[in-house]
Amino acid sequence: MKQIAVLGSTGSIGTSTLDVADAHQDRLKIFGLAARSSWEQLAEQTHRCQPAIAVLTDESLSGSVDHSRFHPDTKLVFGAEGIEQLVTAADVDMVVSGIVGAAGLQGTWKAIEAGKDIALANKETMVVAGPLIMQLAKANNCRLIPVDSEHSALFQAMLCGRREEIKTLILTASGGPFRGKTAKELESVTREAALNHPTWEMGPKITIDSATMMNKALEVIEARWLFDFPAEKIDVVIHPQSVIHSFVEYVDGSVMAQLSPPDMKLPIQYALSYPERWEGVSPRMNWKSGFQFDFETPDREAFPALDLGFEVAERGGTCGTVLNAANEVAVERFLAGELEFCHISRLCRDILESHDYHPSPSLEELLTLDEWTRKETYSWKL
Ligand code: MG
Repeated sequence: MKQIAVLGSTGSIGTSTLDVADAHQDRLKIFGLAARSSWEQLAEQTHRCQPAIAVLTDESLSGSVDHSRFHPDTKLVFGAEGIEQLVTAADVDMVVSGIVGAAGLQGTWKAIEAGKDIALANKETMVVAGPLIMQLAKANNCRLIPVDSEHSALFQAMLCGRREEIKTLILTASGGPFRGKTAKELESVTREAALNHPTWEMGPKITIDSATMMNKALEVIEARWLFDFPAEKIDVVIHPQSVIHSFVEYVDGSVMAQLSPPDMKLPIQYALSYPERWEGVSPRMNWKSGFQFDFETPDREAFPALDLGFEVAERGGTCGTVLNAANEVAVERFLAGELEFCHISRLCRDILESHDYHPSPSLEELLTLDEWTRKETYSWKL
């Protein structure tokens, strides 16, 4: 029985994780859940899987939460200390890191320090502090298994050969709701259109990231550190159906891909079952009906975020932290109606170019820089 802690249990990764755990009750036990502020949903989840601990990271709620709504056997704790208590608990075997944004870094860091294996859904953790996270994981003998569908696909396709036989890692991208639009057309798109993703149902932050293709930029950086491959060995291709989740090209010209209908339950389950494979709970490919796959090269002029991703993957150091924080704030300002869609990438580039670059920062320096970036980005004007 594998005991798991789910960070971000009320988000889309978290709820899918509970579905997977429900389907494999003989193998998975939810030890603890953590959410930011959706306490009513968290309370319901405690009745569904009876965890030992439930955490609300928003401490301001401690006075207003109705404790009687939680399962009587679940201990409710608040704040960042609650997360630490959960991920370091002796019973926990694996931590599902599903908190969105840089906020997910701290919990993942504490879990790795405690020697827990990680199912990594929070790509920002790798973008902000990839080299430090990989070092820490190595020192503590932890496995980091990707949940991001593209990285899960790469992880699986990489099992077909040796590392030194790999020529290129090719990430697929759906292209988002604005695929095919020109840079000029993107100047006048609305928030509602940006929030309407054609193939994946996700939270608002990642949905906007898909529309700008910043999501793919962050995934290039994630792949760079997670698999320790240089930026020039990583590529991106547009595949609107989102069925082929990524490719690995080997030196002999063979290309390995992983396919499945778009549903996050599959990569989540694989991260939890690895190195085994269990009966799937997601929709399957239907080989009885015909289908076709399309591929396009990305339009880098319309989606300048992509170039940012490759640049940051190449430069490393402090760049990932700055790009990530600038993007988080820019998306927030776009959703608040303060910025146009096309300003998001422009703002990120401005802040990136104005920051004080360092090639090998400490975690403390990165956290300070994260704060600096957020302030700069909030006050950025055209
Ligand atoms: Mg992805």
